Formats: sequence, structure tokens, C-alpha cells
Amino acid sequence: MKGYDAIVVGARCAGSPTAMLLARKGYKVLVVDKATFPSDTISTHLVHPPGVAALRRWGLLDRVVATGCPPIDTYRFDFGPFAISGAPGTPESPVAYGPRRTVLDKLLLDAASESGVEVREEFAVEDVLSEDGRIAGIRGHGKNGVTVTEHARVVVGADGRHSLLAEKAKPEAYHERPPILAGYYSYWSGLPMEGRFETYARPGRGFAAWPTNDGLTLVVGGWPMAEFEANKKDVEGNWMKMIDMVPAFAGRLRAGQRVEKFVGTPVANYFRKPYGPGWALVGDAGYNRDYITAMGIMDAFLSAELCADALDQSLSGRRPFYDAMV
Ligand SMILES: Cc1cc2nc3c(=O)[nH]c(=O)nc-3n(C[C@H](O)[C@H](O)[C@H](O)COP(=O)(O)OP(=O)(O)OC[C@H]3O[C@@H](n4cnc5c(N)ncnc54)[C@H](O)[C@@H]3O)c2cc1C
Repeated sequence: MKGYDAIVVGARCAGSPTAMLLARKGYKVLVVDKATFPSDTISTHLVHPPGVAALRRWGLLDRVVATGCPPIDTYRFDFGPFAISGAPGTPESPVAYGPRRTVLDKLLLDAASESGVEVREEFAVEDVLSEDGRIAGIRGHGKNGVTVTEHARVVVGADGRHSLLAEKAKPEAYHERPPILAGYYSYWSGLPMEGRFETYARPGRGFAAWPTNDGLTLVVGGWPMAEFEANKKDVEGNWMKMIDMVPAFAGRLRAGQRVEKFVGTPVANYFRKPYGPGWALVGDAGYNRDYITAMGIMDAFLSAELCADALDQSLSGRRPFYDAMV
């Protein structure tokens, strides 16, 4: 066999677990990413209990806990006239975590490497190789700029919302919706959360806060996409007006100190058929919905497991590719 069993493009929450799980099943796997790790990406990072359960299944939860990221044992939804509060998980997976992407993505990539995955950072994929009507590999370059081609039995696109693999494979798309929310976030010191994820819904506005690594608290909030253009002239001013709609929280926020700049981006909503001849999509490359749900990381984990299981069935010859992937 020439090349790899699988090449995974993208090494964050979808790509590294997919590569790791395939390697643990004995496959020869290459994962590439144009980024270096650790590195940040535009994303808040609440991982709901089913995502935490996946980390436990993979033997990686202890590593997240060891980073000092505090557990979140209470979700509180405040609608103004009333609030609902409770435990987010199940007896098997009782808590959520909010690890920084610098921490989480590096930890996932290290686990993939330890499982036998060949890792190439700073490797940008420019195109896919096609043979006999199927995707058969990648063409790209590392930081020395030299063009390299690599072949594989399957290429997995874990390359996010602007997936090159999806662009090349042209999967059927459905349930497509334009961006709904314009959201921005930053980090505060001195804003204790005592293990709570708090979210506040007010007319035309919504925001949430939860604890993360290094004693910091992430606060994210936003407004309808229709107000994106008007409000982007003064993001911080408009953002603080939103926080001031909840005076008790505003007081806590002002008692702390913002330690990073505001970032944010609107995202489109879509589903893509996630497989075809010689290729598969996981994570945001296959589907995305508004981040107000904070489900992308958890869903990336679950899609990695589903994809790795299905590819194992196909690569091992136990089931035909399309039967396994459907
Ligand atoms: C503002 C915001 C807030 C969010 N908040 C949350 C939250 O609180 N909780 C949650 O669960 N989810 C959240 N999400 C969603 C979450 O960020 C995504 O679902 C998650 O990052 C998907 O992971 P992924 O691995 O599929 O893609 P990504 O994290 O986007 O990783 C894709 C990787 O592919 C690499 N890549 C892309 N193209 C190429 C190429 N051509 N060659 C080589 N490498 C390439 C990139 O460098 C990148 O490292 C949020 C998203 C946004 C935008």
C-alpha cells in the first residue's frame, strides 16, 4: 500500500481525536495543520458533559483536570423575571469544563502523536489529489515552501468552517442558514464564578460567563446579526451597554479586570453530507450551527468517534464504505 490509511487535514477538536482513534485501531495516519500548537483560535470553549465524557473515554480527562481548569457543576439561565438553575450532567459525567483552546487543542494533538499519528504542523493543504473519480491524497507545503504530495486510502477534512476538502469534494449541503448572531468575547481576572456557567437573556441581547484556565473568566455576548454593521463601530461600548442590562453582573464584571482584547465572528449554519469517494468530513467541516449553543467542540468529539468507527469498518473490509458511513 502506498502512503497512509488516512490523512486528516486539521488538528484541533475534530481532527486530532479522529486521527488518534484511527491510530489506536492500528491504522497508519498523518495529521496536518497549517497552524502550530499550542495556538488559539476564535472560539469560546465550553465543553458540555457529553464532550467531557468523550475525553474520559479517551483517557484524556485527567490531563484537562491537571491543567487547573475548574469544573462547572451548575448551569444558571437567567431570563430576567425568573432564572432556572441546575446540574448540567449525568451521574456518569456530572460536570462541564471550559479549557482554553491553547490548552485543549495541544493536549488532543499530543494524544494523537502518542497514539502513533504522524504530525505535521505548519503544513498548508492547497489541493486534493484525485484518482479514478475519488480523492486519493493531498498536495500542500510546509514552512520551507516545497510542494509535497501524500496519498491515502481516505482523506478526512477536519479543516473547519472554511474547509478546503468540502470545497473540493462539493458535498450536498442542507439546512443552510445565514449567521444569526454577532457575538464577542474576552477574559477577566477577578470575576469569580464558583463553578457556575451563567447565562443572561434580555430583549435582543444575551451573554454568558464561565471559568477557564489561569483563574480567568470568559464572558461572551452579542446581538442579532441585523445589528452587526451598526454596532461594530463601537463593539466595547455596545457590549458594555448589554452587560449593564443586568446590574448585579455588571458590578461583578467591573470589579474584575479585562486581560485580553475582544474577539468574535459571525458564523453561518449548515449541514453537509459528510462522506463520499475517498473522503469524509468531521467537526465544523461537516456541520455548523450558531455558537450560542456552545456545542461545536462536543459535536466535533462525537463526530470524530462516529467517523473513526465507520472508517475502521470500511478500511478493515468488514463493511463497504457507503454502508459504514451512512
Ligand atoms: C465565537 C465562537 C465561539 C464558540 N464557542 C464555542 C463554545 O463555547 N463551545 C463549543 O463547543 N464550541 C464553540 N464554538 C464552536 C467551535 O469553535 C467549533 O465547533 C470547533 O472549533 C470545531 O473544531 P474543528 O476541529 O472542526 O475546526 P477548527 O477548530 O476550526 O480547526 C480547523 C483546523 O484546520 C486547520 N486547517 C484549515 N484549513 C487547512 C488547510 N488548508 N491546511 C492545513 N490545515 C488547515 C486550521 O488551521 C485549524 O487548526 C464557537 C465558535 C465560535 C466561532
